[in-house]
Amino acid sequence: AGLPLDLGSWIGRRAETASTRPALTFEGRTLTYGQFLDRIDRLAAELAAGGVGHGDRVGYAGINHPTFLETLFACGRIGAVFVPLNFRLAGPEMAYIIGDAGLHTLVADADRAAVVDTVRSTLSLSRVLSVTEVDGWEALEPLMSARAPLGLPTRVTPDEVAIVMYTSGTTGRPKGVMLTHANLFWNNVNAMFSFDSSQNDVTLVAAPLFHIGGLNVNTLITLQKAGEVVLTAGFDPAETLALIERRRVTTMFGVPAMFLFMAQHPEFADTDLSSLRSLVCGGAPVPEPLIRIYHGRGVPFVQGYGLTETAPLALVLRTDESATKIGAAGHHTLMLSEVRLVDPHGIPVPTGETGEVCVRGPQVMVGYWHNPAATAAAIDEQGWFHTGDLGRMDDDGYVYIVDRTKDMVISGGENVYPAEVESVLYDHPAIREVAVIGTPDARWGEAVTAVVAAVEGPAPTLDDVREFCRDRLAGYKIPLRLEIVDEIPRNPAGKILKYRLREQFGGA
Ligand code: ATP
Repeated sequence: AGLPLDLGSWIGRRAETASTRPALTFEGRTLTYGQFLDRIDRLAAELAAGGVGHGDRVGYAGINHPTFLETLFACGRIGAVFVPLNFRLAGPEMAYIIGDAGLHTLVADADRAAVVDTVRSTLSLSRVLSVTEVDGWEALEPLMSARAPLGLPTRVTPDEVAIVMYTSGTTGRPKGVMLTHANLFWNNVNAMFSFDSSQNDVTLVAAPLFHIGGLNVNTLITLQKAGEVVLTAGFDPAETLALIERRRVTTMFGVPAMFLFMAQHPEFADTDLSSLRSLVCGGAPVPEPLIRIYHGRGVPFVQGYGLTETAPLALVLRTDESATKIGAAGHHTLMLSEVRLVDPHGIPVPTGETGEVCVRGPQVMVGYWHNPAATAAAIDEQGWFHTGDLGRMDDDGYVYIVDRTKDMVISGGENVYPAEVESVLYDHPAIREVAVIGTPDARWGEAVTAVVAAVEGPAPTLDDVREFCRDRLAGYKIPLRLEIVDEIPRNPAGKILKYRLREQFGGA
C-alpha cells in the first residue's frame, strides 16, 4: 500500500532518470522530462497557493494542450483530484459537472473560460484559471514563471482517487467515474504486457485527452516509459498522416472514425507508414474492412476494448495476433485482469454464445462519484464490473465484442447486432459511413435501419443495399429501411451518437 504508484511520484522519478529526454512535443516545441516537471511543479505551487488542498477537485476544460497534462500531474503532486471536461459542452452541461464534482478550481482555455462565464453566477467555484492563449505555448506561462516550483510533493496513497472522469453520456446523463492512482498504474502495467511500448516510442496523440482512450491508452504509458508524446490540438486526417511520416511515429490510439477518415484521405496511399509498429483502435465497434485496409499497408492494426470504468483497457490484441485474430478485441485474460461473459442471471455462458461482458481486475474503477446506487448496480459482490456490452468467445478464449446491449435491435423476435451489419455495409463501394439502428415497425417490432452517408455520386438505394447484403447476412439482419444523411452525428471523441439518429428517425 505504501508503494509510490501515484501519478505525482512517477512523473517525478521519470524527470530524475530521464531529465534530458524529450517528453512532450506540441506545435513544433519540445519539453524534456526535466522541463516538463518544472512546469508541473510551478503550476502545482500556483494551485496550492490558490487554496487547492489534498482531495480537492480541479477541473480542466480545453482542447488538447500540454497544460492539460501539466494540470493532471500538478494535481497528482498535491494530492488533488483531476476532473477533465469535454470541451464541447455547453454552459449548463459544464455547470452540471462542475457542481456534481464540487470543483474548487477550473483551469480553462479562453473559449471554455468564456462558456463558463455565462453560468458563473450559478457556480460555487473558487477560481477559474484562464489559459491566456490556446493556440500557442504561452498558456499559463506568465503564471508558471512567477511561481517557484513546489517544494516536496504531497504524499498520496495508491487508493486515493486521482481522476473523476465523466462518461461521454452517449447513453444518458454523464456519471463521474472515480479512478484511483492504483487503477491508472495497474492499467498501464497490464497494457505494457500486451503493447511492446518502449522508451523509443514516438506516440502521436490526436484523440481528445478528456477521453480515457486518448489519455491513457498510449499517452500515460509512453510518459511512464520515458518515450515521447507528440500532441496535437485536435484530429485532422491530413495533419495526422503528415506527422506520422515526418516524426516517424511508432504508435497511436484512435477510435475507428479517426482511422477511417485517414484511410479515406487522398494522401493515405502516398504516406510512408513504415515507422508504425502498431495502431491501437477501440472505443467503438471496429469494422473488419477497416482492419484489412491497414493490414494491407503492412501496419499491425490492433483492436482494444475498454471503458472509462476500466481505466480503460479490458481486452487488447497483441501485435503478433492482429493478423490471425481479425475482429477479436483480445484474449479474455490480460496479465492482471480477466473478462467473462454472462447471461442476464450472471451465469457464464457457454463458448460461442453471446453474453454480457464483465471485467475484474485492479484497473476497475472504485465506483461512481456520489452515486453508490449506480456503483452497486455495476459492480457485483465478486468484483465483476458489468459493462452493458455484449460479446462472444471463441474456442481459443478470444472475445469478439458484439455490440452494446442498448443498441441491439430486435426484429421479428430475432436479435440483430448493428455492429455486424455495419461491418458488412462498410464494404459497399458507395457507402462512406454507416450507422445501423432499430426504428419502430408495425410488422417486425423494430426495423433494421441503415443510416448512410454516401460517397460522392449517386446515393445507394434500399434495393442496392439489400442486394449487397443478400449473400453476406441472414435475411432478418438485412436493412428494411435506408436513410441517407450528409453526415453521421458523432461526439468529440468520434463516437456515433445513435440516440440522436433514433430521435431523428423515430426510434425508441
Ligand atoms: P456513456 O457510458 O456515457 O454512454 P461511453 O459508453 O461512450 O459513454 P466510454 O467509456 O467512453 O463511454 O466508452 C466505452 C464503450 O465504448 C464501451 O462500453 C463499448 O460500448 C464501446 N467500445 C469500446 N471499445 C470497443 C470495441 N473494441 N468494440 C466495440 N465497442 C467498443
